[in-house]
Amino acid sequence: MLDRRVNGHPLTYLDNAATTHTPQQVYDVFEEFYAGYNANVHRGIHELSHEASLAYERAHDRVADFLGADGREEIVFTKNTTESINLVAYGLSRRLGEGDEIVATEMDHHASLVTWQQIAKRTGATVRHIPVTTDGHLDMEAARDIVTDDTAVVCVPHVSNVLGTVNPVADLAALAHDHDAYAVVDGAQSAPTRPVDVAAMDADFFAFSGHKLAGPTGIGGLYGKREILEEFDPFLFGGEMIRNVTLTDSTWNELPWKFEAGTPPIAEGIALGAAVDYLAELGMDAVRDHENDLAQYLLRELADRGFVQTYGPDVGEERTGLVSFNVEGVHGHDLSSLLNDRGIAIRAGDHCTQPLHDRLDIPGSARASFYVYNTRADVDRLLEVVDTARDDLD
Ligand code: PLP
Repeated sequence: MLDRRVNGHPLTYLDNAATTHTPQQVYDVFEEFYAGYNANVHRGIHELSHEASLAYERAHDRVADFLGADGREEIVFTKNTTESINLVAYGLSRRLGEGDEIVATEMDHHASLVTWQQIAKRTGATVRHIPVTTDGHLDMEAARDIVTDDTAVVCVPHVSNVLGTVNPVADLAALAHDHDAYAVVDGAQSAPTRPVDVAAMDADFFAFSGHKLAGPTGIGGLYGKREILEEFDPFLFGGEMIRNVTLTDSTWNELPWKFEAGTPPIAEGIALGAAVDYLAELGMDAVRDHENDLAQYLLRELADRGFVQTYGPDVGEERTGLVSFNVEGVHGHDLSSLLNDRGIAIRAGDHCTQPLHDRLDIPGSARASFYVYNTRADVDRLLEVVDTARDDLD
């Protein structure tokens, strides 16, 4: 991928917050699986099914290690972060009613924002939002007023996909627990970019996507505390998730299979295990430092240019490897299209955070986001186009 050319230029891929590229060992899994032991899991006692089941189950162990969970029982494979948040919201919905409050944030991705909106509509609960300060942080003072004994669940992004802000999720989980509320963390942008320890964070749930952390599409996961998952209702019903079935009733399989109804994405799941092994080998501290270096470099360069507005924490403050910005007088889509002409991929628009863009009072932004294979030379190529964009688009 990274050797290919786009519009006659070497590809410079800076859209990693949307999706990342996969290393050799991840896509090797697909060939090994389909050419070597393709079979359904958990069902057969034949050799191929045994091999597939073992590999699929071990992938859960690898993800559990990667996130600091207490074993595979706490890791449910889903399609992506969106499905994971929906799974939690559905499980909780039976416990919500009039007078209950769901606390979300103004910087939420639509995956979370829309889900809680809909659950509130169905259950009679209300959603309250922790505001975002002008410098791109969650207003923690307001959070302490908003989370009360009426709060049933607090759901926050660990890292904003627009601002790059790293939110104090352990403090927010403690605040939720002080009021007997569940703490749910959207980890779509943190699991790929920094060390995550769900036990230290004390989140009840943590959602993430495989395709954002060097894994394939179609697979993601949900960490949930074992005792909570035990008592939670399944989201989907059918084969694989049951233990005993009669014509009138059924009992559920053990964790995590109780939440994985039907034939799962087997090859994708095994490949997700290979992706987290790859990242663990690089070291998540190293991944975080590399990303931070590129983001700080871009931020410093943009700060020197009087015609660019950036969003989120300032130069030097903690953030992840993404920078959203606007070039004065240039629409983000025009900039993105100009960059595409030079083989540079960024994202422009509202990044699935329309309310946050309303809060920032902008219709959209351009976003450059980095991953382990990006270099400062990639940032320089982006800056070259930013510098001439106003003249080029005149
Ligand atoms: N949450 C955040 C913070 C995100 O950045 C994203 C994707 O960009 C999502 C949720 C949704 O991820 P997916 O589309 O993989 O479900």
